[in-house]
Amino acid sequence: MKTHNFYAGPSILPEFTKERTAEAVMNFAGTGLSVMEVSHRSKEFVAVMDEARDLVKELLEVPADYEVLFLQGGASTQFYMVPFNLMKTKAAYLNTGTWASKAIKEAKLYGEVIEIASSKDKNFNYIPRGYEVPADVDYFHITTNNTIFGTEILEDLDVPARIVADMSSDIFSRPIDIKKYDVIYAGAQKNLAPSGVTLVIIKKDILGKVDRPIPTMIDYRTHIDKESMFNTPPTVPVFAALMTLRWLKENGGIKEMEKKNIAKAKLLYDELDRNKMFVPNIPNPEDRSRMNVTFVMASGYEEFEKEFLEIAAAHDIVGIKGHRSVGGFRASIYNAMPIESVGVLVEAMKEFEAKH
Ligand SMILES: *Cc1c(COP(=O)(O)O)cnc(C)c1O
Repeated sequence: MKTHNFYAGPSILPEFTKERTAEAVMNFAGTGLSVMEVSHRSKEFVAVMDEARDLVKELLEVPADYEVLFLQGGASTQFYMVPFNLMKTKAAYLNTGTWASKAIKEAKLYGEVIEIASSKDKNFNYIPRGYEVPADVDYFHITTNNTIFGTEILEDLDVPARIVADMSSDIFSRPIDIKKYDVIYAGAQKNLAPSGVTLVIIKKDILGKVDRPIPTMIDYRTHIDKESMFNTPPTVPVFAALMTLRWLKENGGIKEMEKKNIAKAKLLYDELDRNKMFVPNIPNPEDRSRMNVTFVMASGYEEFEKEFLEIAAAHDIVGIKGHRSVGGFRASIYNAMPIESVGVLVEAMKEFEAKH
């Protein structure tokens, strides 16, 4: 049976990643041991970490003055690790949803937070534009893809401040100009690997500017110096991340991925714009996420939500129930989601429409 996995995170991974990881769980790199039971200091695992780091640099064209780290604690740990390491007096934040709000809450513990703009007035259904970022802030924090509400900042921003970006749910989905960012972080469980590892890309010269003492484990310099091996890394998620990175490279890299993601998102949004039973949550097409497509029942049809979920289930579709703070539906169509599965969802929507 083919299950079409639309969960928001943890979420779909390439078959390539799952098969290779399953093999390595039984016999890793010809050692006769499981990847779960091999020392992280073994030459076989060090090779995994090194290749994963190198492939991130290659795929995203990361310049030499940046470091790539694999850390723990999820993106949520980055919410405080970023201000702890980077905030001298004040930072600017763009409030585009739940995750941005959580990042703001943590930053307030360490200095002044300027909320530059917010889309809270419309339950975060748009990306604010036309704001100005002061040049004297320590950094400007954005959430490029708002996993819960379904908006995405699809271009690299030009602002006079250093940008810190939470890219948990759209990393590797489109090419980015790394030089525009000083820090990028991403929990792995949306577009890279199972949960347990967090990717951080950081420009080295942003560090060492704060006076507060930094606990060793949350000091980025610790992990730079020890090449993500200061303490035991999450070895199995890092291995799986490497498999996804190889899969990305073998499938034409990130430009190719972007083409596929544009086609998948178009298929689904076109149907939402056409189908009389549904309304997309995000009115402005320029703000619509290519990763998390959110929608509700058209007015007058709200009572049929459960019926549509049943039709979807009959098509082996899982994970399309919307986040509890938004309601309705959310279809997460990350890199690993084939366009055929999006097609199955579109078919289910048409079938539902025909019934009414
Ligand atoms: C899922 C998500 C997070 C939280 O990630 P954890 O790894 O669970 O801490 C943060 N930001 C965004 C954009 C997310 O999608």
